This record gives sequence, structure tokens and C-alpha cells, in this order.
Amino acid sequence: MPVAEDCLFCKIFAREIPAKEVFREDDIVAFEDIRPVAPTHVLVIPKVHIPSIHDLTRDQAPMLARMMEVANRIADERKVDRDGYRLVFNKGPQAGQSVYHLHLHLLGGRAMAWPPG
Ligand code: AMP
Ligand code: ZN
Repeated sequence: MPVAEDCLFCKIFAREIPAKEVFREDDIVAFEDIRPVAPTHVLVIPKVHIPSIHDLTRDQAPMLARMMEVANRIADERKVDRDGYRLVFNKGPQAGQSVYHLHLHLLGGRAMAWPPG
């Protein structure tokens, strides 16, 4: 499914809804989370509409690597790489997924607990 109607993140990718973008290329956009839970809280999304990480197919693996690469690059720019950061995919209600368009959370700038709540 390349684009889904009424998908918030498809609309952000298409610039139909504004976001504080920090990175954009043809296939990937990254933007500030609207309700940050850490000093650095950026979401990295693909153009293609994939509802969750669980729906990823093998041929989409290179795109996943691209998302990781972009997150790592933003971590460098924010200088959170030295102290550490967390990359998170939430899948489904028990994990707290609220937007059903694949997104990678980049969280950094503070100490984080383990296990997560
Ligand atoms: P998740 O709970 O893993 O599905 O993450 C969805 C994230 O999207 C949450 O952290 C929200 O704060 C964030 N979010 C929701 N709407 C927007 C928006 N319009 N712009 C930026 N981030 C958003
Ligand atoms: Zn979408």
C-alpha cells in the first residue's frame, strides 16, 4: 500500500500536515515528535505506507536500514551518540502504538530506564 487515505504520517510525508522536519529525501522523512518524551525525540518514517514493523517484508529490508542510518545521522548531529540513545518501534496496543504508519523513534538526551514501562 504506497499511500493510505486518512493516515497522519502519509499526510506529513506529503506536506499536507505541517511538521518540524529535520531530514527529507525521496524515500524518508524525519521530524520532531509533537509530544517529546526526551530532549531529542525524532520520528523517522518511510514514504511507503506500512502499518507497523510487523508488516515489513523481506524486500523492504533495505528501507529499514535506511531509516536506521538516518536516525544514526541525526543522533550524530544532536551529539547524543556519545552518551547513548534509544531506537524504538512500537507494535500494537500493548506496546503503545498510536499511529499505524511505520515510524522509528529516536530518543536521546537523558538517561532511560530498563525495562521500559
Ligand atoms: P507511537 O505511539 O509509537 O505510534 O508513536 C506515535 C508518535 O507520533 C507519538 O510519539 C506522538 O507524539 C507522535 N505524533 C502524533 N501526531 C503527531 C504530529 N502531528 N506530529 C508529530 N508527531 C506526532
Ligand atoms: Zn501512512
